[in-house]
Amino acid sequence: MVRIHAVPAFQDNYLWVVAEGARAAVVDPGDAGPVQRFLDERGLALDAILATHHHGDHIGGVPELAARWKCPVFGPAHDGVGGLTRALREGDRFVVPGIDYPVEVLDVPGHTAGHIAYVHRGAQPVVFCGDTLFACGCGRLFEGTAAQMSASLAKLAALPDATRVYCAHEYTLSNVRFAEAVEPGNTRLAERKAREAERRRRNVPTVPSTIEEERATNPFLRCAEPEVIASAERHAGRSLGDPVAVFAEIREWKNRF
Ligand SMILES: [Zn+2]
Repeated sequence: MVRIHAVPAFQDNYLWVVAEGARAAVVDPGDAGPVQRFLDERGLALDAILATHHHGDHIGGVPELAARWKCPVFGPAHDGVGGLTRALREGDRFVVPGIDYPVEVLDVPGHTAGHIAYVHRGAQPVVFCGDTLFACGCGRLFEGTAAQMSASLAKLAALPDATRVYCAHEYTLSNVRFAEAVEPGNTRLAERKAREAERRRRNVPTVPSTIEEERATNPFLRCAEPEVIASAERHAGRSLGDPVAVFAEIREWKNRF
């Protein structure tokens, strides 16, 4: 059975180790040290590296791990990630070496120009979405437009309800505080706040969430909801014509929240 383990790194990153038996793959190894220690402690061999985008906290450990394990490196075709053995784009499918784990690729530009996500559609569906969709939030727009990010998030939101969302940062509590400012009447959000705060008190990751929970509580996936539109328009001081304009407004608002 495949298990997914969080390896904490830096301030608030999660590097994801996907393991079955004694074999493993890693998603977004920003730092080789913690990944290697995790593999050593568990007696795991690394068979594959998967990258979502080019930022250093996601690929910083790739050269060292790839050299040590002589394993293939999968990553986005158009995001400036060097050293790939397989360059991926929307619709590509492959089985992650070593762990018999089929995934397909979605293009999810916005945070970076060529960001991709990996979707596993098995009995326990999973998405590794890097810095695109966060638990109750979304990534900043460093290289893409609001329209691109909004379309990328819609693509992720369309995944099956039960899909577990493995994002790359523990930002949830601060995201929930912002979500409450945008949508104070959302009762699911209030429930989520209590649950996530309790997890953090016990030092347990709030990730993964599920697509169902994100659709119910994440303001960036709810730009067509009346309360989200009203809050965005109040913040903007004008009426906003469509969900992309609402998304752009709340993304800007969050940057300064
Ligand atoms: Zn990033």
